[in-house]
Amino acid sequence: MILGVVLALFVVAAVVAFVKAPTRRELPPSGQSPSVEVPPTGEMAAPGEAATDVAATATATPSPVIDLDQPPPSAGRLVRLRSRLSRSQSTLGRGLLTLLARDTIDEETWEEVEDTLLTADVGVSATQQIVEALRTQVKVLGARTPDQVRTMLRDQLLVAVGADGDRALHTAPHDGRPAVLLMVGVNGTGKTTTCGKLARALVGDGRTVLLGAADTFRAAAADQLATWGARVGADVVRGDEGADPASVAFEAVKSGVEQKVDTVLIDTAGRLHTKQGLMDELGKVKRVVERQAEVDEVLLVLDATTGQNGLIQARVFSEVVDVTGIVLTKLDGTAKGGIVIAVQRELGVPVKLIGLGEGPDDLAPFEPDAFVDALLGEPMEVAQ
Ligand code: GDP
Repeated sequence: MILGVVLALFVVAAVVAFVKAPTRRELPPSGQSPSVEVPPTGEMAAPGEAATDVAATATATPSPVIDLDQPPPSAGRLVRLRSRLSRSQSTLGRGLLTLLARDTIDEETWEEVEDTLLTADVGVSATQQIVEALRTQVKVLGARTPDQVRTMLRDQLLVAVGADGDRALHTAPHDGRPAVLLMVGVNGTGKTTTCGKLARALVGDGRTVLLGAADTFRAAAADQLATWGARVGADVVRGDEGADPASVAFEAVKSGVEQKVDTVLIDTAGRLHTKQGLMDELGKVKRVVERQAEVDEVLLVLDATTGQNGLIQARVFSEVVDVTGIVLTKLDGTAKGGIVIAVQRELGVPVKLIGLGEGPDDLAPFEPDAFVDALLGEPMEVAQ
């Protein structure tokens, strides 16, 4: 009898515990998120099939309701962060201003001008064009005031950087669907960090954002993204380490459409493997995403400190996927600001964003005027 009562109590307790068990979406976002099935890594199946396969493989991790950060809007950031370019500034901008302010500019000085541009990674053909244009200007001007030198150099650098190009970042929803941005590039360039920073900037601009952690080859990447997302209230869709990146990307866009967010940002893996492998992987991610929404931007993330190596990476990526914009990271840590000019020439694609530090808001829309002004420093500083 007593045994019967104890048994009955135990059964009731077990039922209550089961009913009260938290659902998946109530679980905390990182670390303890439920493990998910590793999806097949083969080629994507037919669209209908893909939708069901994929839905089972990635997990939407809602950001917990905590005190959210309120990031500043993106406008005017480059001006605020201009001091971060100081190392580029002293080498490129100030170096050139000093040389061109000399009373007589002989061949040796022109060689120094050329060396200064080349050292700052401007690239050979752009350097030749800039030097040619400056030579003509100097002949026309004759004796030059410091102000004239500055204006002349500013004009030429602006031409080289390209003041007229369309650098708008397409992040607004359209046709009732979110804008979709793919972040591509070699690991270590700052892709995941840029995804997080960009999510913050977009939230600061009043948009709703969802993040897709399709860099499934690095477990830390998804955790990193989850932390960024949690700080600004952006959900993160992630899969297991080694999961099919296309599956995660698919599920992220699906969630983004369902939740009616403005922008979906997808972080991809950037292993340096064969060009064919890269092409297959990124091509597949893009194709799968495009079954649900247009891919509005493919942003290539490049580390500005890697010089020629970065340019080689840029070439490979641009051959495998249609890059629509470049993000140059780590411009705070290099004297080689000229890479902006070189990489745009190499790819024929504009630099749209620049990374100027490891802080959460150290990402700025690229503005040619503000950039060139930052390179040249304040007029007062130059006169000293
Ligand atoms: P991923 O492998 O391409 O995703 O690279 P991560 O996003 O993990 O970044 C690699 C490292 O670069 C991290 O230590 C970042 O903090 C750092 N990083 C990213 N962007 C910048 C930047 O603009 N400036 C500096 N100084 N560091 C950056």
